[in-house]
Amino acid sequence: MRLRIAQTISVTEAEGPGRRFAIWVQGCPLRCPECCNPEMLTFDGGRDVEVDQLIAEVLAARESGIEGITLIGGEPFAHAEPLALLARNVRAEGLSVMVFSGYTLAELRQMDDDAVERLLAETDILVDGRYDRAQPDTTRRWIGSANQQIHFLSHRYSADDSCWTTRDTLEVRWNGQELLVNGFPAKPAVSMWRSIRKPGAE
Ligand code: SF4
Repeated sequence: MRLRIAQTISVTEAEGPGRRFAIWVQGCPLRCPECCNPEMLTFDGGRDVEVDQLIAEVLAARESGIEGITLIGGEPFAHAEPLALLARNVRAEGLSVMVFSGYTLAELRQMDDDAVERLLAETDILVDGRYDRAQPDTTRRWIGSANQQIHFLSHRYSADDSCWTTRDTLEVRWNGQELLVNGFPAKPAVSMWRSIRKPGAE
């Protein structure tokens, strides 16, 4: 089974609790004004990867101390079938799953979609709802706007964990070809991913 992705980062501390393997999916049917990752809205961009290959990459990243994966985008629930398979396999290995969705949990439940339900069943933390630029959230870590809710769908995490009150972080990496930037800058208060290519790079 294949998944359309925009980007992955094998170890990040800027996309959820602890160290995590972050996956930005390519494609979102929603159109929040001032979306932080507009290049990830089209379903035509990005690249296809085999879910089995992605599972292997995630499990290999355990050597770097990751405690889970974060699914972001793009809209993860627009890719529910392959992500449910991915989430089930990495969770079976003891890793946690955090998902950022533009849909509310109520909307997801109302879809009555088997793949959506299976992805929800493998999700430990769901951050839900459209990004609303009129309500920037400057108090809750990793949360873009005040209307968005954090749902703890398992007992693995809770609102009492200290990670929710520490400051947002932005990470910058240079891979020799591109400057990669991810995380939650102070303004806008939403997760972003950017790559800036070296002049002349292919
Ligand atoms: S749900 Fe996320 S990716 Fe989709 S338009 Fe809104 S902010 Fe952008």
